[in-house]
Formats: sequence, structure tokens, C-alpha cells
Amino acid sequence: MISKPRGTRDFTPEEMKKRRWLERKMRGVFERYGYEEIATPTIEHLELFTLKSGEGIIEETYAFEDKAGRKLALRPELTAPVMRFYVERFQMEAKPLKFYYFGNCFRYDRPQKGRYREFWQFGCELIGSDKPEAIAELISLAYNILRESGLRNVIVRVGNLDILRKFLDSIGARDAEIMRLIDKKDFEELQKRMGSEEFKKFEEFIGVKNIDEIEYEEAERMKEVFDFLEEFGIPYNLDLSIARGLDYYIGIVFEIDAPRLGAEKQLCGGGEYNLVPLLGGRKVATAGFAIGFDRTLLALEIEGAEFGEEEKPVYVAYMEGMIKEAIKIVKMLRQQGIKAEMDLMRRSISKSLDYANKKGIEKVIIVAPDEWKENMVIIKDMKSGEQKKIAIGEITKEIHS
Ligand code: AMP
Repeated sequence: MISKPRGTRDFTPEEMKKRRWLERKMRGVFERYGYEEIATPTIEHLELFTLKSGEGIIEETYAFEDKAGRKLALRPELTAPVMRFYVERFQMEAKPLKFYYFGNCFRYDRPQKGRYREFWQFGCELIGSDKPEAIAELISLAYNILRESGLRNVIVRVGNLDILRKFLDSIGARDAEIMRLIDKKDFEELQKRMGSEEFKKFEEFIGVKNIDEIEYEEAERMKEVFDFLEEFGIPYNLDLSIARGLDYYIGIVFEIDAPRLGAEKQLCGGGEYNLVPLLGGRKVATAGFAIGFDRTLLALEIEGAEFGEEEKPVYVAYMEGMIKEAIKIVKMLRQQGIKAEMDLMRRSISKSLDYANKKGIEKVIIVAPDEWKENMVIIKDMKSGEQKKIAIGEITKEIHS
């Protein structure tokens, strides 16, 4: 037997129903905010991701050579591909541009609950404005996507990399490794690298809960963003310890957690970044976020969320010799927008009814020769057990009743 690769998953019909339901919900919110969907390839040139993504992402990337010796990668994230697409096709378009996407990503991570080697992200990029209201709207979108998918318990944390980097400069502790350790929240290692005096200052700094206490100039812009967040009705927390894994982030960054998920609680990460000039494009303001689709689903399950009633099909059974008549009925029902299934196993009526029972089907139509002559079928309500003859033209009405 061949198993699936480590860290990947198969999805059952039940899981796919939930996934599609959540996908529709999330898509709806992006659309309502005026975002347009785009898609990019699953494979890209490896260079796109090694350009400025930081060491972490390179280690985690599925990279390979194709038959012509090109270095390719399975995308570990979607922001760099979308920026590549932007530089190729959209630089001249009226701003702001608002793109969203839904796709699978691949990371050679250590698999555990909520962490997979193939996972899905819903995300977006806002191109052309770095006004505080643009950033506030972006954060409000991320928050509302999670809330409208039914989550009750989410926490928004907003930080600022310009402020964090300035602070680290002031204690002489700014380098890529320190940023990585801050992102990983590895405080033990940070203390070692910074020295205890500096680490104490760092602890004080990340403990600041009110932006008014920050004296760097960048705090002014943060205050405006917070002001607009209040206008959008979004609860937020200042968190100056947000470092983000990828090197291309600048300015305002944010993360949203579902605290009940434990170690893998981060559902969303995003912020402002600078990637376009690296890809050969003209400088432009860019910000975006990515929501972990799989984790959001886990969080919903933990909260005991409802995933919407599932519509059961009408089941069409038939007596011997009536197979073509049964096809006519199932075809008619489907044309009328009714979810319908017919017996494909050539079962007897009683076996068909057993099957319908097992599947939780509510209505069964029985196509029988005597009734057919009168332009009628039998309809059986599986809950009440009631069974009656109805005219073929009346089936739809009966099913909707
Ligand atoms: P990132 O691009 O690392 O900021 O990731 C954005 C979001 O994607 C995270 O907040 C997670 O919810 C989700 N995510 C990242 N890596 C994984 C993974 N290996 N498995 C499942 N979800 C992930």
C-alpha cells in the first residue's frame, strides 16, 4: 500500500463540505470589501522566494529542478507570486488595486495539529496606498473574515517594525537573527544574545500597551491607524513584539490569534512590506495578509460552530423495467435545481429504502409501472413513513413543501 506524503491530507466528503462552506463565507467578505480574485501558479522560480524572504523560508521550501535543469519551488506563500504578477501586468492600473486569492502552499515544516506540509491560505494584497485608513481597512477585513466565518474568540495584535527596529538599534541589538528569535518568541536565546541589561529594556519595550508611551515619530501614524480601527469597530491590542518571519515586512504588521488553538494559534499574519522594487518594479505602497484556512476550520470546530445545514438529495428508486423512466425523473429534478440521486445499484425497492435510511435521505420517489401509466409516481417521506401517489408535474412542489 502507498500512503500519502507526510504532512499532507485527504479530505472526506464531510470535510470538503465544511471547507467549501468556509471558502464561500470568506470569499463573500473579500468581495464585499471590493477585492477581486486572482490566481498564480503552484510552482514558481525558486529565486522568487529566496530574493528576500529570510533564511527560514528557504529551509522550509520544497525546491527541485525540472527536466531542463531550472530551479523551481512549490510556493511556500502567495505574496511574492502576487507581486511578481503585479509587476508583470498591473503597474499601470489605477490605484488602489485590491486582489485576493485562495490557494495551497507548501512548507517543509514539522507536521503537527494545525501545521501541515500542504496547507491553504486565503489572502489579499492592497497595492497603492499606505494611508492609515487603508491599513485600518485591511485589518478590519482580516478581522471580519474571521468573525463572519463564525469565530467568536479572536484577538488582533498590531505592531510596528519601524518602531521595533529603531528600538533594537537603540540597544545595539538589531540583526536578522534577533528578529528571527523575536518572531519565534525564543526569549531564553534572546536574553543570551542581547545580554541581561538590554534584554530587560527589551522586555519593558514589548510590555508597552499604549501607543502614547512611544516617542518615536512612527507612533503618530500608528495612532491614526488605531483611531480608524475604532471607527471600523475593530478591537485591537498594541503588540510591539511582532517581528514577522519574512524579511520584506516594514512598518505596520499585525497578527490575529484564536487563543483556544494552543501552540498553533495564529490564524492570520500580515502587514506592510516592500517587495516590488526587488522584483524590478517601481516603488509602490503594498500591504496584505494571509489567513490560515485549515487552522480557521480547526478553530471553528473547537468552538463547536455550525457549518450550515447540508441539503440531502431526493432519492429515485424504481421497479423492474422502469430504469429509463427513473432517468427521466432524476433528470427533470436536476433541471429544476433539486439535488437528486437515482439507484445505480439495481436494488429492489426495499433495499433502496434501506439505503435511503442509512444516508439520512428524507424523500424517496418510487417509479412504478401502474402509476407511470397515470403520469404519476409514489413519494415516500422517510421521517413519517407516509407514502402517496402524486402527479409527475407536482413533484417539485411536494419536495419544496
Ligand atoms: P505566514 O505566511 O507564515 O504568515 O502564514 C500565514 C498563516 O498561514 C499563519 O497565520 C497560519 O495560520 C497559516 N500557516 C502557516 N504555516 C502553516 C502550516 N505549515 N500549516 C498550516 N497553516 C499554516
